[in-house]
Amino acid sequence: MKVMKFGGTSVGKPERMFGVADLVTKQQEPAIVVLSALSGTTNALVQISETLSSSYRDEAREKVEQLQQHYAKFVDELLATEEGRKEGHRVVAEHFEFLNIIFKISYSEALNKDILAQGELLSTRLFSVYLHEKGIQHALLPALDFMQIDVNAEPQIGNIKVKLTQLLEAHPGVNLFITQGYICRNHKGEVDNLKRGGSDYTASLVAAAIEASVCEIWTDIDGMHNNDPRVVDKTQPVEQLSFDEAAELAYFGAKILHPASIWPAQQFNVPVKLLNTMDPSAKGTVIQSTAAGAGVKAVAAKDGIIAINIKSSRMLLAYGFLRKVFEVFEKYQTSIDMITTSEVAVSVTIDNRDNLANILQDLEPFGSVEVDDNQAIISIVGNEIAQSNDIMKRLFDTIADIPVRMVSYGGSRHNISILVPGNYKTQTLQLLNKGIFGLG
Ligand code: ADP
Ligand code: ASP
Ligand code: MG
Repeated sequence: MKVMKFGGTSVGKPERMFGVADLVTKQQEPAIVVLSALSGTTNALVQISETLSSSYRDEAREKVEQLQQHYAKFVDELLATEEGRKEGHRVVAEHFEFLNIIFKISYSEALNKDILAQGELLSTRLFSVYLHEKGIQHALLPALDFMQIDVNAEPQIGNIKVKLTQLLEAHPGVNLFITQGYICRNHKGEVDNLKRGGSDYTASLVAAAIEASVCEIWTDIDGMHNNDPRVVDKTQPVEQLSFDEAAELAYFGAKILHPASIWPAQQFNVPVKLLNTMDPSAKGTVIQSTAAGAGVKAVAAKDGIIAINIKSSRMLLAYGFLRKVFEVFEKYQTSIDMITTSEVAVSVTIDNRDNLANILQDLEPFGSVEVDDNQAIISIVGNEIAQSNDIMKRLFDTIADIPVRMVSYGGSRHNISILVPGNYKTQTLQLLNKGIFGLG
């Protein structure tokens, strides 16, 4: 059995959904199809929820109406028969009934999560109506019945496997299953989600749980590119990556994959393929346990980074100083991405600013604390690059004019990271495209 995940743009227009149906029905083996919300829907739901939480009810109601109109038109274009359209409009009406009730109840975090879940619930149900209209046999597997996160928001593959297996066994003879990406239940049993872009994570978790033959991530580009195509002109797809290389790229900003989406597939050695819905015959990228040779494969950037410098001539050399610093971040459940130390100071970076004020307050007794906001981590990723003799020279020759704030080298054999002010991100990525890859 394989897993096929289709992102927002792959289902965002009726003709794209026709294409997805075409692809999933051509398969030689049974498939679980994971769908995202139609492109733009989750952003719209986030805005509705935020507007509602700030008590701008009329504005929120207007946004719900706009979204409902979008879905009404989508149904008319997706479905051809009177019966199909009737069913499609009934599904839309059901979800928008909920999106109108939200104005009558008090706002809470649980309500926010319920609002955000509507996108994937709608896309999968509408796709199911379409398949039904075409006479394509399939079953809808509710993600809320098997996808669960624990008290630390971590998915547990063991539990997911037990529940998913039971659901699959309840449909003997069915070869095509549809489920929602992104949404899950939390430890309290409430509707929750796997964070933005989380459908990739769902796909990888499902693939791990059923030990799939392959986890295909279908999107709007022909695989992982060597650089961020949103900010750099001449980028090219990378044919093969190891799990470790792909995980580093996803974690350090390559938006094509959710940051946590590699580990489940890696744990069960399920190959991941990144494929293009607009060009299904393009090679894309294969991610598996072995890398295709040594050398730099790609660079990625993660913005919105905060660098914190703690300077303490008195304490740094003292035994246990770093532990005390780390404990502050642990207390506020904030993970550190980069770290550098000198004899008198330590610099760390974080991307989560939720508890920044508390963290700074708790660090105060250790010495003088300085904060640089709006930084960007640029990661250069490739198999064994840290062992390459000339990579550092090439790197620093290439970015000689960029004010580098931190460097991390040697922590991983696959990654060299530098921290630069956020407004230098684009220039750095462009320079690296020329200097490291000879493109542009
Ligand atoms: P989906 O909606 O299918 O999940 P996403 O928008 O989340 O798609 O991810 C695909 C997008 O990721 C591409 O359109 C591209 O703009 C962006 N992207 C950023 N970095 C990379 C990269 N290194 N390689 C490929 N795409 C990238
Ligand atoms: N719909 C969700 C989002 O836009 C999840 C996903 O697309 O992966 O973040
Ligand atoms: Mg995505």
